[in-house]
Amino acid sequence: MTEFAPLFADLSTEPLYIAGPCSAESSDQVLLAARDISAAGIPIFRAGVWKPRTKPGSFEGRGAEALEWLREAKQRYNLRVITEVATPEHLEEVLKYGLDGVWIGARTTTNPFATQQIADALRGVDTAVIVKNPVIPDVDLWIGAIERIYNSGVRRLAAVHRGFGTQQTSPYRNAPHWSVPIELHRRVPELCILCDPSHIGGRRELVAQLSQQALDIGFNGLMIECHPTPDVALSDAMQQITPDALRELLQRLKLHRTPVSRDALSEYRLHIDTIDSRIIELLAERMNIVRAIGEYKQAHGMAVVQQDRYNELLLAAEARAEASNLPSKFVHQIFRAIHEESVRQQIELQQE
Ligand code: PEP
Ligand code: MN
Repeated sequence: MTEFAPLFADLSTEPLYIAGPCSAESSDQVLLAARDISAAGIPIFRAGVWKPRTKPGSFEGRGAEALEWLREAKQRYNLRVITEVATPEHLEEVLKYGLDGVWIGARTTTNPFATQQIADALRGVDTAVIVKNPVIPDVDLWIGAIERIYNSGVRRLAAVHRGFGTQQTSPYRNAPHWSVPIELHRRVPELCILCDPSHIGGRRELVAQLSQQALDIGFNGLMIECHPTPDVALSDAMQQITPDALRELLQRLKLHRTPVSRDALSEYRLHIDTIDSRIIELLAERMNIVRAIGEYKQAHGMAVVQQDRYNELLLAAEARAEASNLPSKFVHQIFRAIHEESVRQQIELQQE
């Protein structure tokens, strides 16, 4: 896949910004959001009309009725308007209303049958298509979905990194495995790759820092969820930001005048940085538990250091190290340091 075209020929400057509410909820909400997003200088408006929700009974979108509101927003505020499609029928409706493009959501990208059906329906259609990453960090599945669309003749194509589902306690709703979009870029260098910090973060406090991180890594643009009154949004309320917050975020973003170089060395380094930040997150998570144990020991009049437990912990770490081909002495040293800090924190608690 080498012959890509910009999503929109007159919008080829970078970064490319897309913003809008998670869902189109009412005509007023759509038009208000569109007005403010257009005023913030953002050329592409997003809003979901059919919402893939984890639990039945949640708000599942207004359906085709909302396409009329999107068409109105497009005309009134001179925006390009895109929405999510999960079936050929959705696509047919969207085209009927003359919208400018579609995105394929993470759950759909995960399913090759569903993606192929949409790809077949796209044959001979001139529209912009954005493919979100699948919910699992499988670069081949993501590339496969993009290839299905490409093979239907679509050239106005982009990918969006929206993070990957995680079972672990993580500060993110969908953990950003940056190495996956980096690998996508290595394998399909001409493809425009955007980042969706809203679905990665899941919390509005994280959106600005994730946006900056994405531009630092070299993503070609951002898709951000923005709602006139996020707290009462019918879906993804916690991660949506107001138009004011969006304007501020854009003003503060540091843009790179020259694209960040992405040679092999810098990609390895970026991968290392991602792993290091995960190590630090895990250490912080461990220390939270250490403090909870400290409180338990205090409440039950127990001593901070339990020698048997300490020995067990070191032996278990050494055994795991050997199984993973790591020198056990090295792992022993690390766990001694971790244990030392844990003890220090528990003693501090006892003294409070
Ligand atoms: C969305 O963009 O609102 C959405 C449902 O995204 P994802 O498919 O990434 O979960
Ligand atoms: Mn959403």
